[in-house]
Amino acid sequence: MALTQLKQYLRPTSLEEALTSLREGGKGARVIGGGIELVLFSPPDVTTLIDLSELSLSYIKENEAGLAIGATATLTQLIEHQTVAQYLDGVIVGMLHQVASPLLRNLGTIGGSLASANPWSDVIPLFLALDAKVTLFDGNYHSIPLSDLYPTRSRLSGSILTEVLLPVPASGTAASFHQFSRTGFDVALLNCACLVKVDAGRCSLVRIVAGGTPRLGAALPAAAEALMGMELTDETIERVARVARESVDTRDDRRASARYRKQLTYVFVRRCLQEIRDRLAEGKK
Ligand SMILES: Cc1cc2nc3c(=O)[nH]c(=O)nc-3n(C[C@H](O)[C@H](O)[C@H](O)COP(=O)(O)OP(=O)(O)OC[C@H]3O[C@@H](n4cnc5c(N)ncnc54)[C@H](O)[C@@H]3O)c2cc1C
Repeated sequence: MALTQLKQYLRPTSLEEALTSLREGGKGARVIGGGIELVLFSPPDVTTLIDLSELSLSYIKENEAGLAIGATATLTQLIEHQTVAQYLDGVIVGMLHQVASPLLRNLGTIGGSLASANPWSDVIPLFLALDAKVTLFDGNYHSIPLSDLYPTRSRLSGSILTEVLLPVPASGTAASFHQFSRTGFDVALLNCACLVKVDAGRCSLVRIVAGGTPRLGAALPAAAEALMGMELTDETIERVARVARESVDTRDDRRASARYRKQLTYVFVRRCLQEIRDRLAEGKK
């Protein structure tokens, strides 16, 4: 496929200008980050591309609320950034190394990764577990939890995602991410991200998210509930992983069966929670 209907490639220098072009372009207008999805899938109806690269949105900076990442920061920029590398023992960088290939990560942006809402996305489940917030610009700025972006993607229509914020993790918090794909370059058959906060030996905050089920990453509330108030013992981890296996809503597709995905969920929840326990123990030394 090719962008056969493409008439204009715009490079606005302000968000207002970008938004005006998006609205004036109607159904055929798309904003473009790295363009790896847009070029690969080349939707035939696209008439206008609005390149965000001149908007100074490629920053990564710390503030009192957390780590603020501009929408056009590339996945490679994140991997190479020292603060991102240190965030919760490197869980973000560990996940990003499993996304696509180094060359594609040089182009792909964090905004494009979140906006494209691919069901097999590795970024989305981890960022949901980390309780990321996104800022949308529709003439005004709106900061919303990432989880609010996804029940429908209509929150994004006519807006531009400008920033993602990863909150400062409270002490006693650890996170982990695991995924399985057929090859290092293939998309995940299933992925899983967990975040746990422990107070006085007991779990006081738990988020467990599974993606590629084959639908978009979504929380597993029954599994999180089973861990709340508990100690991270082998028995509890085993029980929570079983609850995750029973409660996750998996489907068959050409990549894997629903049953296999359930088993992967069990394995990854168990692996994530064991890793979190190890990381928390390591942090106490
Ligand atoms: C071959 C291949 C393999 C991949 N493998 C993986 C993988 O293993 N794991 C994984 O998680 N991902 C994977 N991906 C997905 C990839 O990481 C993301 O698609 C990519 O990062 C998108 O970024 P981009 O900037 O290139 O998006 P673009 O192609 O520029 O845009 C994608 C979509 O998002 C919209 N968009 C972009 N930026 C914004 C914004 N700021 N505001 C509003 N809308 C916006 C565009 O209009 C478009 O609809 C793969 C992609 C490809 C092509």
